[in-house]
Amino acid sequence: MPNRKRNPPPEPEVEFEELPAVTLTGGGGRGFNSSIAFDQARIRAASIYCSDGRFGEQMDEFLHQGLGLPRYDRLAVPGGPACLSGALSVFWESHSAERQLDFLCHVHKLERLIMIAHEGCAFYLEWLKVKPEEFAARQLDDVKRAATRVRQSRPTLKVEAYLARRQDAQIWFEPIPIALAPADDLRLPNRR
Ligand SMILES: [Zn+2]
Repeated sequence: MPNRKRNPPPEPEVEFEELPAVTLTGGGGRGFNSSIAFDQARIRAASIYCSDGRFGEQMDEFLHQGLGLPRYDRLAVPGGPACLSGALSVFWESHSAERQLDFLCHVHKLERLIMIAHEGCAFYLEWLKVKPEEFAARQLDDVKRAATRVRQSRPTLKVEAYLARRQDAQIWFEPIPIALAPADDLRLPNRR
């Protein structure tokens, strides 16, 4: 097929639907104005948690008010700390999450990392197809493995872990003890 690279076929014209007009409040005619002032200072703390938006406001409240971490850096990925566990089943997710964590460590000079897992996480139940009866133990084990791996590869980073629990509309956060696991148990390739 000569000249295929130089002369790609013209892209088909796409017709976009007319979108309904959106009225932005607080705008003054140039879009939406945030009522929150920008603060230049980084607090050198980040949290990795699941991207499930139903937990987002509570995560913010916990980190802002419970742990006193305003403006923390967010690493929201499906499954949260599961992606740093080193398990083969999250190989690709792990690659991406570790790169993002590296960025935050080097560029934002991260000193503290808060890992938060949440009950009923669809990343395990629907994506990894973990059986409901095995889910809680697997999730807890993953968080501990993730904490140990991060501590081993970034010894200066202070790592804490929590489980966001839910009963009906109530969500609360419980600390997960993350003592260092035996080294033999975690001899996994460092994918930095
Ligand atoms: Zn989740």
